[in-house]
Amino acid sequence: MDTTVQVIQKENSFLSEVAQASGEKIQACFQCQKCSAGCPIAYAMDILPNQVLRHIQYGHREKILSSKTIWICASCYTCSVRCPNEIDIAKIMDVLRSLAIRSGIEAGEKDVPLFHSVFLNTIKSKGRIHELSLILGFKSKTRDFFKDAGLGWKMFRKGKIKLLPSRWGGGKEIQEIFKPVERFQKKT
Ligand code: SF4
Ligand code: SF4
Repeated sequence: MDTTVQVIQKENSFLSEVAQASGEKIQACFQCQKCSAGCPIAYAMDILPNQVLRHIQYGHREKILSSKTIWICASCYTCSVRCPNEIDIAKIMDVLRSLAIRSGIEAGEKDVPLFHSVFLNTIKSKGRIHELSLILGFKSKTRDFFKDAGLGWKMFRKGKIKLLPSRWGGGKEIQEIFKPVERFQKKT
């Protein structure tokens, strides 16, 4: 015979989906709010980490996958280490971002997934981060060329932004790292 938790999970496909993909016991959250109290980015979120857990328990798929929170989360793992029930909330945020992309739901912070994509393309092509390529790639997509221009110039003058990427020799290894991810993306 099913336990109450199993019955709830069967009736709530979003909860099952996130629980299965993350391997986390989301039903164990009892809303102590320790995760949100320690989150350094909570002030900028539209839904606090403890509330994310509650919405998942209630099956509010659209609300969570279109939230700003899942894109603002910095994956710092503070919440995960503070949770008395050992729920890895940062891992759940990863799963939510992945589900949002696969579901085609417009991100609550639309520039963040774009930044992730440009960042990964820079790593893939150059093997390490090259700030100027990253900035140019990002600006060419957003078309917002002057935002933060003053800051960029200051960084350039202090030598924080190099004109040319540094040399590296790990191209083959980097391509190997990306291959399973690309295979997974093609399947989904
Ligand atoms: S992993 Fe995300 S939700 Fe958790 S404390 Fe860090 S920024 Fe906040
Ligand atoms: S710290 Fe853990 S149990 Fe407490 S509200 Fe956050 S996820 Fe739930």
